[in-house]
Order: sequence, then C-alpha cells, then structure tokens
Amino acid sequence: MMPVFTDHFGNASSIHWFGQHAKTLIDDARKHIAQLINAETSEVVFLSGGTEADNFAIRGIAGKGGHIITSTIEHHAVLHTCKDLEKQGVAVTWLPVSRDGLVDPEEVRKALRPDTVLITIMHANNEIGTVQPIEEIGKIAAEADVYFHSDGVQSTGKIPVDVKKLGVDLYSISAHKIHGPKGVGALFVKKGTMLKPLLTGGGHERNRRSGTENVAGIVGFGEAARLARVGLQGEMTRVRELRDQLESELKKRIELIHINGEKAPRLPNTSNIMVDFAEGEGLVISLDLKGVAVSTGSACSSGSLEPSHVLTAIGKTPDEAHGSLRVSLSSMTTSEDINYVVEILPGIVERLRELSPYYKKV
Ligand code: PLP
Repeated sequence: MMPVFTDHFGNASSIHWFGQHAKTLIDDARKHIAQLINAETSEVVFLSGGTEADNFAIRGIAGKGGHIITSTIEHHAVLHTCKDLEKQGVAVTWLPVSRDGLVDPEEVRKALRPDTVLITIMHANNEIGTVQPIEEIGKIAAEADVYFHSDGVQSTGKIPVDVKKLGVDLYSISAHKIHGPKGVGALFVKKGTMLKPLLTGGGHERNRRSGTENVAGIVGFGEAARLARVGLQGEMTRVRELRDQLESELKKRIELIHINGEKAPRLPNTSNIMVDFAEGEGLVISLDLKGVAVSTGSACSSGSLEPSHVLTAIGKTPDEAHGSLRVSLSSMTTSEDINYVVEILPGIVERLRELSPYYKKV
C-alpha cells in the first residue's frame, strides 16, 4: 500500500498513464479476491467494507418490496438492514436457530412464499463461529428461483470458500477480517444478478458502485487475499489445534465453563467460552490488563448492556450471555499465547467468582 500512498497516486478512472497504472493495480487485486472465492473477476465489486456489502446486497434486491428470509443470529449489518426494510413494508421471516447456532435448511424451504425475493443467511457467525449449511440452502434457493445472499465476512480466508459450490448469488467480504486494511471490502455479485446500486454517481465498478476507488485499500485487500489463499490449508489446521488446545486446557483447569456452539461445525479460529458465575466485562478487563485482547458478545456492540442477540438466540439467559467471552485466534497467534491465557485465566476467574454472591466452590 505504501507505494500507492506515495508514488502511484493516479485515479483509476483517468485515461492518462498514471491513472491506468492505478487501474492495473486494482485489476490485480480483483484477481486475488476472485481466486480466493472462486469467482470471475467481473463478479467482484469493491466497496467500503462488510457493512456496505450487506446493505448493497439486501437493499439492492429487496429495496422495492417483497419478502426476505433471514436468521436471528445475523450480524447487525444484516439484522438492522432487514429491520429497516421491515419498517418500510418489506415482509421478513426471522428463522430461529438450534441451541448450537445452526439454521435448519428445511425451515428455509418452509418459509418460502410466492413473493420471496431474497434469502440472506450468514456463512459463519461472528460470535460463536458456527458455519451454516450454505450449500444446502443454496440448492433450495436455486430450486425456488430466489436470490441468495450470504455474509461471508467471517468465513472468507478462514475456511475454503467457493461461491459456485455454495450456490450464492451475492457474498459479502471485508478486508480487515483477513489482515487487510479497514474500510474496504467486496461484494460478489453473480453474473446476471439484477441489483439496484446504493450510490448514484459516476458509474464506477461497472455501474455497481459509484465513487472513486480506494486504490491503496484495494491493493492491501488484494495482497491480504493472496496471502490468505496461499496459507489457508496450513493455517486452518494450525489455528484449529491451538483453539482446541485452549478449550481443552481451560476445561481441565476451570470448573463450570462451557463452549457455545461446540457441537456444530465451527470456524477453526473462534471460541465462545461461557464462564458461570463470572462477569464477562470483568474477564475482558482483567485479561486486557495482562495484555490479552478478547471481547464479550460482539465487538461491534460492546459497550452496550444488551446481552448478545446471538447468545440469546441459542437459548442462553441474559446472565449466561453476559458471562461469555469471545476469543478469536489468527495467523499471528502462537502456542505461547495460548499457554499464557491458560496460565492466567483460572486465577482471574477465581478472583471474579469470589465476588459473586451465587458461587459456591464445588
Ligand atoms: N458481517 C460480519 C459477520 C462481521 O463480523 C462484520 C464485522 O465485524 C461485518 C459484517 C461488518 O464488516 P465491516 O466492519 O467491514 O463493515
């Protein structure tokens, strides 16, 4: 990205040579994103991130009315967009999930109506990491001839993604979830999909997304996608082993802890740990003071006192939801990091539990 900030300052829409150089950099990045998800380059639309991608997909299809099918555990970028459309008269079916956080494809089929225009179900959940049966839902959507969007912000770069195999028409991605820069993302738009643009203007991105391209961000996103693809298989195994080690060691050393979504197919890097009789905020602050960055509920909504909508949707009480930690590992996480958390967390939990009037040592 540095050469783009300093030397290659052209506008990719300009005809002069430095504009065209910027365009080749964007084309190169587009190729890397397309390769990561097995799309055609012409099907990748750059925009400002996962939130915009979700808004574009949903409003672009359902902005004019009809019926949407979605789930109760979607990211707020989908949840609030559907709620907003609902207020404007679009009908929305909110599918519940199992206690492990999975949508039942048969429920999707049953929810179909003659006026259904869109199914939007996330690929992997950002709080508990559960991976939804997207391929099965894709088949149902295709049989019913209904557009299918999936929020792939958490899954891309963490597990193999093949948009053709998944059967999606629209798929959201965000650069900062794969070690790319913040403020840039992409929407996969299957060839032939009729999508009303969110922004009107100069007709950039094949008339899908107007606005001068964020060249440096896109270049960083492209490189992050390339690295994610090259390292994917090895990293999946390495990170899953670390995550499993973290969970099994913590279970041995701390009584009354549970892993949310443990029985479902999960992303290799996510662990949602419920600690009975300990306050989640207290755990986060104590770990932060020792240099460990984790969150409770979803980072996007931390600071709010509302219990996580995902944890309540899988049947947790507000108290249980407040006592949950979300731990995300990445390609930068080492076994030393895991050992450190395993060493310090039992003491932190014990201290916090001493403050709980309900906790009695067993
Ligand atoms: N969708 C999911 C599943 C996410 O986890 C996030 C971010 O945390 C988003 C959408 C929003 O992406 P962005 O931060 O790029 O707007």
